[in-house]
Amino acid sequence: MQTDFDIVVVGSGPGGYVAAIRAAQLGFKTAIVEKYNVLGGTCTNVGCIPSKALLDTSEHYHTFTHKAEKQGIHADNISLDFTQFIARKTDVVKQNTDGLNFLMKKNKIQVFFGTGAFVSNTQLKITAADNSEQTITAAYFIIATGSKPATIPGVAIDKDRIISSTEALSLKNKPEDMVIIGGGVIGVEMASIYSRIGTRVTIVEYADNLIPTMDRELGKELHKILSKSGIEIILNSRVQSAKNNGNKATVSYLDAAGEQKEITADYCLVAVGRKPYTAGLGIENTKVQLDERGRVQTNDLQTAEPNIYAIGDVVAGAMLAHKAEDEGVFVAETIKGLTPHINYNLIPSVVYTWPEVAGVGYTEEQLKEKGVSYRKGKFPFLASGRARAAGDLDGFVKVLSDDKYGEVLGVQIIGARAADLIAQAVTAMEFEITDIEMGKICYAHPTYAETLKDAFLAASGRGAINM
Ligand code: FAD
Ligand code: NAD
Repeated sequence: MQTDFDIVVVGSGPGGYVAAIRAAQLGFKTAIVEKYNVLGGTCTNVGCIPSKALLDTSEHYHTFTHKAEKQGIHADNISLDFTQFIARKTDVVKQNTDGLNFLMKKNKIQVFFGTGAFVSNTQLKITAADNSEQTITAAYFIIATGSKPATIPGVAIDKDRIISSTEALSLKNKPEDMVIIGGGVIGVEMASIYSRIGTRVTIVEYADNLIPTMDRELGKELHKILSKSGIEIILNSRVQSAKNNGNKATVSYLDAAGEQKEITADYCLVAVGRKPYTAGLGIENTKVQLDERGRVQTNDLQTAEPNIYAIGDVVAGAMLAHKAEDEGVFVAETIKGLTPHINYNLIPSVVYTWPEVAGVGYTEEQLKEKGVSYRKGKFPFLASGRARAAGDLDGFVKVLSDDKYGEVLGVQIIGARAADLIAQAVTAMEFEITDIEMGKICYAHPTYAETLKDAFLAASGRGAINM
């Protein structure tokens, strides 16, 4: 059958735009369909990029207000222009979306702005913002429609006082106080942004630890550091409702002792996870199936409709931009008949607090649960010359490796530049380099990276320090 395109990608987040670029590079006639009039999806517009822009500014501000004096820098009348704080973030986003427009043109990818809905497994109707419609056909489709903020019973996100991360990235005025439901990744990143610029922040978390899906020691260390910085953290507490009182929000929760408590603040930020997004996609007109959590069901990213694939937040697995990107490449190359590779055990997780938190592979809890015999090397940032020079003494690197052969099974880091350091751990693990071999590599001195070498040395029994 003659079709308009070889491949049409629905959704232009990091999954979708990477899939489209790889498809075009491989010689496919490719189009991308995006519901909003801007490319980039959650990550570029209301996720990774804007949150990191605000984290960065808030970190500079905090350095001037809290750390500069100690280094002999006296600066008077430091203030934050909140409007410029948000405007600069918006500009950073625009630079990224402009870059994507350029990449689509460069790779001759046709862009359609409008909501895509399947009419059949080969036809997609696109409804634009002005309600005009057109239908395009393709031999293959890639669903990359991403996710939306989730909520909990009793808490309705009204985008006014009860907000999601999307609104929290574009507030008009600096909040005096904010209560955050959820001490997961979004919760602790947003808490960091706002507490650094002077908002009183309280996190209410259901679990008994922050960032509960990561290695337990990381959450405990982060708890200590964030508490010290002034963030109030309430664990073991289940939020039951949030109410908009006009100019404030009141959150009710059951605390660890089972007592009903309330907190009132300018905003209640709901950060209890995200849910896959397939509304209006017309999948009922195809054989594509959803699982019990509303995710598109796939086998090696192929749906029950053999010419339709799905990637990113809308399918099972970590809701992370780099996972979506790798899946985009995987699907384009699969359609081409190549043999692409993704190692789902080695997708790193990073939390952009200060210090940063990063992990890859198994956590210590997972190794214990599996009954794996492992050895551990743990090195504190306190003992790093580079960290001392910068005054960033919090945190540690923990290497977990196979007890007998030294195969690296997991690396868990909390400390300055953990987000960048974790890449070395991923490399070691992907290519099965042992802790002994990692300890033989020469690292420049003084660098943060040396903390990793020291932890590899500690794991293999040759470390100067093992915490
Ligand atoms: P998305 O980025 O969600 O893109 C999906 C796109 O599809 C959207 O543009 C949507 O409008 C479009 N769409 C939906 N339905 C249709 C339709 N029917 N027709 C046409 N278009 C449609 N991840 C990280 O790895 N690192 C981070 O630092 C990070 N920070 C984050 C911070 C925040 C505040 C949030 C909310 C998320 C963050 N994430 C981060 C997660 C990351 O944003 C997602 O994992 C990633 O965006 C998923 O990519 P995706 O391509 O699957 O979907
Ligand atoms: P999350 O799953 O990381 O955290 C949600 C938290 O809310 C959990 O700790 C959970 O125990 C808690 N919770 C749930 N119900 C509760 C209740 N009733 N009361 C109190 N606490 C409750 O989800 P998130 O932080 O919303 O992030 C969503 C997704 O976005 C994540 O999958 C994450 O991977 C992605 N993200 C990634 C980054 C990054 O890579 N740096 C940054 C932001 C978001």
